[in-house]
Amino acid sequence: MNNLVRSESDQVIETSEERKQRFLLEFDMPFKCDKCNERFKKKKHLREHKADVHSY
Ligand SMILES: [Zn+2]
Repeated sequence: MNNLVRSESDQVIETSEERKQRFLLEFDMPFKCDKCNERFKKKKHLREHKADVHSY
């Protein structure tokens, strides 16, 4: 509920190498869980993860 407010101060300074790594990660695993920020290659995996970890 309270994750709608986003602080500006959580910005991190990245090196170009870190930025490249992050780009590759996002490219390779585009499906991100909005609850725990874990990444998945397949939408199916994300759905299974949510059903498994965040089902309550
Ligand atoms: Zn999750």
